Amino acid sequence: MESALTARDRVGVQDFVLLENYTSEAAFIENLRKRFKENLIYTYIGSVLVSVNPYKDLEIYTKNHMERYRGVNFYEVSPHIYAVADNSYRSMRTEGKDQCILISGESGAGKTEASKKILQYYAITCPASEQVQTVKDRLLQSNPVLEAFGNAKTLRNDNSSRFGKYMDIQFDFKGAPVGGHIINYLLEKSRVVHQNHGERNFHIFYQLIEGGEEDLLRRLGLERNPLQYQYLIKGNCPKVSSINDRSDWKVVRKALTVIGFSEDEVEELLNIIASVLHLGNVQYGGEEGSACITSDTQIKYLARLMSPLNLEQASSARDALSKAVYGRTFTWLVNKINASLAYTDDSHKHYSVIGLLDIYGFEVFQHNSFEQFCINYCNEKLQQLFIELTLKSEQEEYEAEGITWEPVQYFNNKIICDLVEEKFKGIISILDEECLRPGDASDFTFLEKLEDTVGGHPHFVTHKLADGKTRKVMGREEFRLLHYAGEVNYNVNGFLDKNNDLLFRNLKEVMVMSENKILTQCFDREELSDKKRPDTAATQFKASLAKLMEILMSKEPSYVRCIKPNDSKQAGRFDEVLIRHQVKYLGLMENLRVRRAGFAYRRRYEVFLQRYKSLCPDTWPNWQGKLSDGVSTLVKHLGYKPEEYKLGRSKIFIRFPKTLFATEDALETR
Ligand code: ADP
Ligand code: MG
Repeated sequence: MESALTARDRVGVQDFVLLENYTSEAAFIENLRKRFKENLIYTYIGSVLVSVNPYKDLEIYTKNHMERYRGVNFYEVSPHIYAVADNSYRSMRTEGKDQCILISGESGAGKTEASKKILQYYAITCPASEQVQTVKDRLLQSNPVLEAFGNAKTLRNDNSSRFGKYMDIQFDFKGAPVGGHIINYLLEKSRVVHQNHGERNFHIFYQLIEGGEEDLLRRLGLERNPLQYQYLIKGNCPKVSSINDRSDWKVVRKALTVIGFSEDEVEELLNIIASVLHLGNVQYGGEEGSACITSDTQIKYLARLMSPLNLEQASSARDALSKAVYGRTFTWLVNKINASLAYTDDSHKHYSVIGLLDIYGFEVFQHNSFEQFCINYCNEKLQQLFIELTLKSEQEEYEAEGITWEPVQYFNNKIICDLVEEKFKGIISILDEECLRPGDASDFTFLEKLEDTVGGHPHFVTHKLADGKTRKVMGREEFRLLHYAGEVNYNVNGFLDKNNDLLFRNLKEVMVMSENKILTQCFDREELSDKKRPDTAATQFKASLAKLMEILMSKEPSYVRCIKPNDSKQAGRFDEVLIRHQVKYLGLMENLRVRRAGFAYRRRYEVFLQRYKSLCPDTWPNWQGKLSDGVSTLVKHLGYKPEEYKLGRSKIFIRFPKTLFATEDALETR
């Protein structure tokens, strides 16, 4: 605990609950700024960790630092991601309850780095046998592989995760990591065929082309030049200064082996990656839309299948195939990694779990489409979970301590979740209905249906329904949702197609016949005979989110809230407007309000007494009686007024930070 007043002025408070003016957003941001200037990127709101991306390497992740946080009480050391990791680990060990760590924040805020730091912490500090070491290695090595296939350079982040990830780390009764399991969410498949200006395709394509051995490239029919490939040049930036594709290739190649891929499997995997690039180069010309002949027989076959289509249909069929192939291969990859991480020791079936959730934050762009709709829906669900669990745990703590709970006002976003996901009446249901309806269904009839069905909802607006002011900033093809984090306009263009996510049957047939073993696992023969329509993309996503909520609900959560300090990936720049925006949609002020409702500060009696006993002759050097009596004697001696504190069963609750600060200062000037 930073104690002297001067230190507080300079570096701010390490827990926002200690802010005098805790309802002031300006004070909140000022505290963040002070700490950021001093390279103190971590601050608590109670037990929630707020982290600001430093965009530079800080010397705070060494083995020594790990040691410093091991087994230490949360509040005795400065805030750190290791403290969160250690706290979860200890709760799991002592209370035997499964844990989860939820990491949120916008793209580039540092979520993935945070999750990697947590994983490293466990890999280094947890006990290990030789067998466990293999699991640790595989856990760590799964990262570069998944990042190669699932991350890409975007305008916001040079290593942006284009999928959501939930990872369970399984620990045996000795506390050693013995297995793991990954669930992936909604890969941004559209990136395979199109990238916006200044962005790239998934890393693996460039890594293979830059780093692949001569022999390998020859076998795959690839040239060592990304400019040759239509799918790699849409964003006009095949090279990125912060990325070394060639050395990354080596890392990924090695990681695949550590995870347990055979040489053949690697070859087949890369064959698929190469095929996607070749497929992208299939061009159509002429009125009949006949495909150019290339040297690859598979492509020739595909081209023939596509030739009855017109130009536009053929291109979009080609792109749909590329997306399907890549998307399914990614899922195959995750399954393969899971098989290699599976806990196989039958003699100790029982294990505890720490889950790590690294998932896309709330997104608002100039142009928002189906993907943003899904991502923001996901964030509504997570916010809902957060509200329920935080309020619940606060309430439970008060009850456990025998202190009266004082209800807190907060916005419950359940109403928005319902608007999106409710059966029959929700936006997803209406979208599905339009997707299934034969005839004239289109993105616009979908919009009209929305107006008819949810037009009266307080969190839904369209151009037609809006008042004059809002109407000015809305297009006729948009609907607006009033999310808990702010307003977002979604353009309905492409909603039906993306939700249907269909692939021509004859293309599926070709894939089923492929000799590539991975592809035949990805495209199941049964799928062809299945008469039932597959679930739409939104419905699948909704189901996977419901499952995720169930998983998270069954665990004890910890939270890491990541903030991006500026849009230029620069160290030292604190862009206040940008940060204020994130503080708002991460719900941090509300979080603080809930945490501060009633009491700012609480400590176990023994911890409190140990720290301050020297301030009272009756408690110094040792208090002999009941702990609560000792604390009571101590605070009376210090002049605490009855309204300033309460004594619970095992903890003292202090209402205002200034009371505590006065005590801290007394300690300092004694
Ligand atoms: P997100 O997953 O939230 O999109 P990342 O975790 O990929 O963001 O972080 C983006 C970049 O920011 C990283 O590649 C790294 O350069 C930098 N970064 C993030 N967290 C840290 C940190 N704790 N220390 C140093 N640099 C960081
Ligand atoms: Mg990420």
